[in-house]
Amino acid sequence: MSYVPVYELPSRPRPGEEIVLPTGQKVKIRHVGIPWIAPPKKVCLDDECPWHGHLKVRGIVLEVKVVKVHPKFVVTLHEWLKYDHKYKRYEWRRKKIHARLPPCIDVKPGDIVYIGETRPLAKTISFVVLGTKNDVVPVKPIVKRLGETEDLRI
Ligand SMILES: [Zn+2]
Repeated sequence: MSYVPVYELPSRPRPGEEIVLPTGQKVKIRHVGIPWIAPPKKVCLDDECPWHGHLKVRGIVLEVKVVKVHPKFVVTLHEWLKYDHKYKRYEWRRKKIHARLPPCIDVKPGDIVYIGETRPLAKTISFVVLGTKNDVVPVKPIVKRLGETEDLRI
C-alpha cells in the first residue's frame, strides 16, 4: 500500500479555496456538487479523492451505515423500504455497498456516512465516501422574485 500524506488544517476550508501545504504544494478544494456536505478538515494528496483529487461524483448519493473499515475502502449497509403491491405493505431491503475511502476522511464502524456514485474504480467499487453526519451543513435556498429583473441576469 502506497503512503499518502494527510495534512490537518486549523479550520474547515470552503470549496474553491486553494491551500498551500508546508511542502510548497498547492491543493485546490473542489466543488463536489452537493452543497449540503462540507469539505473535510484534512487535506490529502490522493488522486482519487472527490475533494482534493480528480474523482467526479455523478448519479446517486446515499446515506448508509459503515459495517467494516479497510485501509482503502469501507463496507456499508444500505437499507430501504420496498412496497409490495400484492400484500399492500412495505418490506425492508438491505444491500452491502463497497465504497472507496479517501485518506482525508476518518470513519469507524457504526458511523452514518454519505456515499456518492462515481465511475467504476474497481470490480466491486463504484462509490466514494463524501463525508460523515458531522459534515452536513444547512443550505439556504436563494429566492429570487420575478420583479427583480437585475438579479435574474446571468
Ligand atoms: Zn482528500
